[in-house]
Amino acid sequence: MGWTCSHQKGEWCDLLGIVCQPGTKGCTLYGKAVFADPSTPSNEAVARRQAIQKRKEEEELKKLMEAAKRGF
Ligand code: SF4
Repeated sequence: MGWTCSHQKGEWCDLLGIVCQPGTKGCTLYGKAVFADPSTPSNEAVARRQAIQKRKEEEELKKLMEAAKRGF
């Protein structure tokens, strides 16, 4: 399976005005995809977003549990 970016013109990114670096800050993939190279900035952004989501879910669950203890 392949993927092409509409911003990529040869080796150049016309969105960022730099040589294409998938997953760099500002790239359309930033924070959306995890890359095999652990130093890709996107990986940290994905991990941050997942941690925020997990914290929100835990807070929501906690509220539901407290409401259930009170009998709604
Ligand atoms: S850096 Fe990202 S947005 Fe730019 S061309 Fe590469 S994949 Fe596309």
